[in-house]
Amino acid sequence: MLKSKYTVIIGLIVVAAVVYFVGYRDGTLDRDPPGIASADAQQISPVTARDRAFYAPNSEDLAPDEMRLIACGTGMPTARPKQAASCWLLELGNGDKFLFDVGTGSAERIAALQIPYNFLDKVFLSHLHTDHFGDLDALFIGGALAGRQKPLRVWGPAGGTPERGTQYALEHLFKALTWDRDGRAGLTDPRGYQMFEITEFDYKAVNNIIYQENGVTIRTLPAIHALDGPVSFIVEWNGLKFVFGGDTYPNKWFAEYATGADVAIHECFVTVADMIEKFKFTPQSALAVGTQIHTAPEAFGKMMSIIQPRLAIAYHFFNDFDTATVIDERIRTTYDGPLSLSVDYMVWNITKDDIRVRMAIVDEDVWPPPATDTPQLPDPSIRIPYSDFIAGGRYDMHDVIQPIYDEVNEQYGINEQQD
Ligand SMILES: [Zn+2]
Ligand SMILES: [Zn+2]
Repeated sequence: MLKSKYTVIIGLIVVAAVVYFVGYRDGTLDRDPPGIASADAQQISPVTARDRAFYAPNSEDLAPDEMRLIACGTGMPTARPKQAASCWLLELGNGDKFLFDVGTGSAERIAALQIPYNFLDKVFLSHLHTDHFGDLDALFIGGALAGRQKPLRVWGPAGGTPERGTQYALEHLFKALTWDRDGRAGLTDPRGYQMFEITEFDYKAVNNIIYQENGVTIRTLPAIHALDGPVSFIVEWNGLKFVFGGDTYPNKWFAEYATGADVAIHECFVTVADMIEKFKFTPQSALAVGTQIHTAPEAFGKMMSIIQPRLAIAYHFFNDFDTATVIDERIRTTYDGPLSLSVDYMVWNITKDDIRVRMAIVDEDVWPPPATDTPQLPDPSIRIPYSDFIAGGRYDMHDVIQPIYDEVNEQYGINEQQD
């Protein structure tokens, strides 16, 4: 009895040793790393997903009471790869999306967010400097080509004279794009290429409502910058207040009406020293542009101390490892509250209880998201023909192109013919 019990125990030990040895050799039983107990080792591998510390576009729902703000441009009129010029996307938990400015270079940032272009149909322009609307043409034409099946709606200020207003600028931009638009006639869904729907408003009106739809109210404030015309915007929705300041010398309207914002964006210009040393401005121009036409960092801080937002966001400077520390030091002489020194693709999730700040990590290989409505087929009869001279220059490629037509006609059950 005793002997058979020992036999069973020894047998089990031998079987366990063989299983361990075989498992170790084929890798299914790793030896514990030195100093780590075996229970801990099993928790380390396999790795399970953890919360991301970054924002991946098109991967997160927005809560019904939440705002998401994304910087699509934080830079200057002078283009640089790292920072497009002013552009801010505000997404609301009710599904609404608003673009504030579409400065030069911002269209590719917008594209990286993978939002169907039908939902990117509302643009609010703070003023008509190219670093605030220079990519409107790219959003207008590129958006229409990639699924915006309705006109682009644009709100912008009047100017001191009619030809300095948004209506004039956009009517002439539309005219400037005549060759572009005519060349696309009869080739794609035409609905996005219609004339902008322009709402031009009085830039002198103070805290005046220019938009009220779907529980969202947008008001404007005058700004002091270069010429009469520039404005700032206040968005109120669901008990949250978002303020976007366009370019300005610090002004009394912002000081009064931006007070108590959950998030307040305000320009904060390159330091005068960097404008002279890095931008090669003369000291005279650097002082005038950097402190009188725009808001110097110390003045930005003073304004934020007055309005006391839950979070202040500074933009409109080249934000580098060396400039950021200097800007921060200067702001901190006049403001000690919450602050973001923005760069492109910075993301803020805003609720009444929390403001979460992250960076978006984007896919450089991104393609446009699918259209949200069935595409309208092109009408070949409205194509504008080539002249006989140009048409006569076509080299005969029918033989090599016909197989492409055959393949697509068969695959999609259509019967298209070459020109
Ligand atoms: Zn400007
Ligand atoms: Zn600007």
